[in-house]
Amino acid sequence: MAFTTDTTEASSSEERPDDLLGPGTAIAATLRSTLGPNGLDKMVIDRSGSVVVTNTGATVLDGLEIDAPIGRVIRNAIQAHARHVGDGTTTTALLVGELLDAADGLAERGLHPTSIVDGYASAVSHARDALDELSVPVDPDDERLGEVASTAVTGRWDAAATERFADITVDALRAVDCDAARLTIHAYAGGGLADSERVNGILVDVDSSSTTIDGFGTDDRRALADPTVALVDAEVTPPPSEASGTVTVRNPDDLAAVREHERAAGDRLIRSVADRDVDVLVCQKSIDDAVKTDLARAGVLPVERTRRDEFDAIARAAGATAVAAVADLDRDALGTVGSVRRRSVGGGAVIEFSGLPGESHESLLLRGGTPHVAAETKRIVEDGLAVARHAASGGGVVPGGGAGMMAVSRAVADRASSVDDRSALALEAFADAVTVVPRTLARNAGADPIDALVALRNRRHDGETAAGVARSGAVRDMFDAGVVEPVAVPARCLETAVRTAGLVLRIDETLDAEPIDGSEVDGDGRRGHAHGGDDGHGHRGGHTHGSGHTHGGEHGGGGHDGGYPWALSH
Ligand code: ADP
Ligand code: MG
Repeated sequence: MAFTTDTTEASSSEERPDDLLGPGTAIAATLRSTLGPNGLDKMVIDRSGSVVVTNTGATVLDGLEIDAPIGRVIRNAIQAHARHVGDGTTTTALLVGELLDAADGLAERGLHPTSIVDGYASAVSHARDALDELSVPVDPDDERLGEVASTAVTGRWDAAATERFADITVDALRAVDCDAARLTIHAYAGGGLADSERVNGILVDVDSSSTTIDGFGTDDRRALADPTVALVDAEVTPPPSEASGTVTVRNPDDLAAVREHERAAGDRLIRSVADRDVDVLVCQKSIDDAVKTDLARAGVLPVERTRRDEFDAIARAAGATAVAAVADLDRDALGTVGSVRRRSVGGGAVIEFSGLPGESHESLLLRGGTPHVAAETKRIVEDGLAVARHAASGGGVVPGGGAGMMAVSRAVADRASSVDDRSALALEAFADAVTVVPRTLARNAGADPIDALVALRNRRHDGETAAGVARSGAVRDMFDAGVVEPVAVPARCLETAVRTAGLVLRIDETLDAEPIDGSEVDGDGRRGHAHGGDDGHGHRGGHTHGSGHTHGGEHGGGGHDGGYPWALSH
């Protein structure tokens, strides 16, 4: 999606250049319509022309092509948040836009940016208290956990699919006692969402582990019952010939002898595996091609280049110990599982280890019609999983649908009325800004945002603190509606939004990089900007020049007197 920020009407502050506040507002404006259960989809088209249809804030944000450096700073901050929390990307983006907008108004009224930033920061701490007060604990067996997962994935699929995914996600999480290391998610193209399933076992990707399953053929019904499993944490190659160093071959007989030697070494290796009745040899690295074929012929299933986490999981699940070389395999190192079988999935295959006697493991096998849908499904399920884990790990949950933000708004507004300095203005602005969540949910549901806000305030006043904007646009009790989110989600959204807005507000101007020889900075003619924060991509400070270079007015076109103490480009 081509995305160039229109900054002409974003900021009217005379002191602050437009391009500082515009991008934040523009990003918010782009994401606004995707918020909540009635969020609309965006079609994101990247430069290569591939198309993704999504209403996941994080995916849209990834797809935006943002020219303005400040826009990139904002995006990176929000993306870091999304990776950490797993939900609330759109909410954070809307909050950033709203806080920047409000700051603009405050600056016009003469408030210094530092006071605004301080005011916002103090508002966040009151917000956290208000959210904690609103939150209720949830334990892993609570049915609320399912509601947390479904709230997080609402709007991505139809109601039935949402329900189903929330169920498999939460069931899997419970089955592993909320231990993320024992739960893996696989997504494959081909098949529909409804073909997704939860597997009590470990799946090994045949494609990514490039396992030869010749021995298995393509018959899905073939399964190894109670196979002995060995794990080797190294490459499996025939041992080098004993006379180490270079072997000089003088005639064809010598060559034959070398080959014979290698074959014998290979044979010994195969025999040492087969003699120990190993049925499945799981290797973390590659297995020599000839050895692989011989193993398969000897009835051993070779599984090579197994992902590290899966390799470790198999060891724990089978009660086996990984060894450094095939020669180290002994009885104690071997383990077993109930069954190992091949399964066709989409165009490829996976190997499934099930009936695990040791540590149990759950795998979610997700399906989507195309690779994009499969990847998006995986992302959404991961988000649901992340928030369910947050909720179950003791933080508690708050009602969704904007109820949390209403509580925050009330608390911060109360605080504002009790302080008598200028920071009250920033607190008031913050209290208004956070209502962007219920307002937007109402608007996206086709309801009037102001009416919704008034109704929410009245309900709160009557003690209904869980009142929020429902899918229908009406105001109702969110606990009754099953719309709940971990307290960490709104809390982190606010923290990230304030930190990001602060980052932008503390910048007082962007500095065009001045090339010392007067030529353009970038090949594509763009000028670099100095932006007051590391955007995580190392855009900061491409070149640093001593101030001496910039004296004497040699830098053509810039027209800045005296020169900067540095010049930046990216
Ligand atoms: P984000 O990227 O911020 O997570 P979403 O599009 O997921 O954006 O929308 C999240 C918002 O939608 C939250 O405020 C959440 O409480 C609200 N929400 C989710 N499901 C429902 C629902 N069924 N009814 C009302 N609000 C909901
Ligand atoms: Mg969400």
